[in-house]
Amino acid sequence: MELSQVEQYATGAHASLATCDSLEALASWHQQHLAKAGELTAFKKSVGKVAPEERKAFGMGVNQIAGKLEAAFKQKTTELKDAELALRLASENIDVSLPARPHRVGGYHPLTLMLREICGVFRDMGFTVYESPHVELDEMSFQLLNIPKHHPARDMQDTFFVSEDVVMRPHTSPGQIRAMRELGPGPVQVILPGMCYRNEDISARSEIQFHQVEGVLVGEHVRFSDLKGILLNFARRLFGPDQAIKMRGSYFPFTEPSVEVDIKCTLCHGEGCRICKHTGWLELLGAGLMHPVVLKNGGYDPTKVRGIAFGLGVARLALLRHQIEDIRLFFQNDCRFLSQFQ
Ligand SMILES: [Zn+2]
Repeated sequence: MELSQVEQYATGAHASLATCDSLEALASWHQQHLAKAGELTAFKKSVGKVAPEERKAFGMGVNQIAGKLEAAFKQKTTELKDAELALRLASENIDVSLPARPHRVGGYHPLTLMLREICGVFRDMGFTVYESPHVELDEMSFQLLNIPKHHPARDMQDTFFVSEDVVMRPHTSPGQIRAMRELGPGPVQVILPGMCYRNEDISARSEIQFHQVEGVLVGEHVRFSDLKGILLNFARRLFGPDQAIKMRGSYFPFTEPSVEVDIKCTLCHGEGCRICKHTGWLELLGAGLMHPVVLKNGGYDPTKVRGIAFGLGVARLALLRHQIEDIRLFFQNDCRFLSQFQ
């Protein structure tokens, strides 16, 4: 065994150390060369095979080579660790100068906004809000509103029955009776906003639940012209000061006479377009003078007082206001749709 053999080996070991590019590669290099079972240890142990007079020089030479390899290994370890740290710092770097992502805050649903606006307009005209139950007696929902059992007018809507005598209210009208009985016998001027339920096929025009706002005005001097004035004012507040309304004769069991009220098409202003089906008018709500039977059931003498009533769909108004063609959009809760109303 000659020292030159060890030197030759060391040259190779230094070269392979230089090619280590990760801490894992470095560990296996250490295993091969510097560990207890490594090649360098084998050289150290081979000192017995060296001629006795050369043993000292050989031993010193090997130790020197070992020292250099150890030092090179430590330096390489430091280099690789530094490089890994630098890489990690670079990848985890936070750019504090980047603009922040906008923090999205919630907003009111377009139907809530519409409902509040409607209530606001009627409040300005002196109406107060009266709330009545969603789950109602059949008596309140139909019988006292001049729709006895088996009356054909019951087929105007398909009602959800909770039991034989209890329904999910199909309209806000039962609130008329409740309001008159609670607030009468003096004048009553209330709006009844709330959710209503009908077993209808869901389509672009109808949902099984929907908001209605009902209006009731009862008093000795109430006349049909009050209804016209109130509704014209309402239409103008919502759709602009030049808005016109049109009344068409209609039928509801709880009003007599009954009318349906149209507004001039908000899109074509009466010229005729696709939205108004070229009629120039859009259906707004149903209304009328309260039927004497209903007034009587509310606790009034129909020969002494008169009442007017109207009922409108909140979603319908929102459709008209925003020129939306599908009512289902309001209930799908797609933020891309809803955020347009914030
Ligand atoms: Zn039109």
